Amino acid sequence: MQKLLAGIHDFHRRVRPGYVERFAHLALGQAPDCLFVACADSRVVPNLFASTDPGDLFVLRNVGNIVPACCADPSHSQDGSSSADSVGAGVEFALQALDVRDVVVCGHSACGAMRALATGQWPADARHLGAWLAQARPSLARLEREPRLDAPDPVDRLSQAHVLQQLDHLRSYPEVARREAEGRLALHAWWFDLARAEVLAWDATSGRFLPLVRET
Ligand SMILES: [Zn+2]
Repeated sequence: MQKLLAGIHDFHRRVRPGYVERFAHLALGQAPDCLFVACADSRVVPNLFASTDPGDLFVLRNVGNIVPACCADPSHSQDGSSSADSVGAGVEFALQALDVRDVVVCGHSACGAMRALATGQWPADARHLGAWLAQARPSLARLEREPRLDAPDPVDRLSQAHVLQQLDHLRSYPEVARREAEGRLALHAWWFDLARAEVLAWDATSGRFLPLVRET
């Protein structure tokens, strides 16, 4: 907590003066370029690796960057709500209120959620975690259908297949499917290699994730 508080003080003293005007403008409304779905993992920092400013990204983060398929959530509680509704609400808000034109689902290497999914091991009394990860099970089958994924670590290969599967889940939302079909929305599969601090993007031609920035 000390580091966090020191950061607030540092922001106020050193960074804030350069952002006063921008935030004053942003206070009037937001018009982000992109809906960005990422894992809650502390090491994944979209604003850092994509060099984005406040107002640029509408971000949904959760354990394992999971997008539950629309209307197929088995964990609905008796009142009809579920954790999946949070993601669905975010998707609908980003599209129908903010009119974003791009959606990025970004997985990452060494993902604890993907390791738990792969091994079936998480704390026995963590029932919310178990129910949440169950919504990523289709990614296990997806991995079998993506034989060209070439990350050395099998959990990383699952994580990459998982990102592709989440794009399919996104397409189960009628508004996403409609806008994509009309050419008003593009979906992107990204994957952050933590050890290399490098962003990879899905390349359908090679069936692999390739560095988004090619060194020349
Ligand atoms: Zn993760």
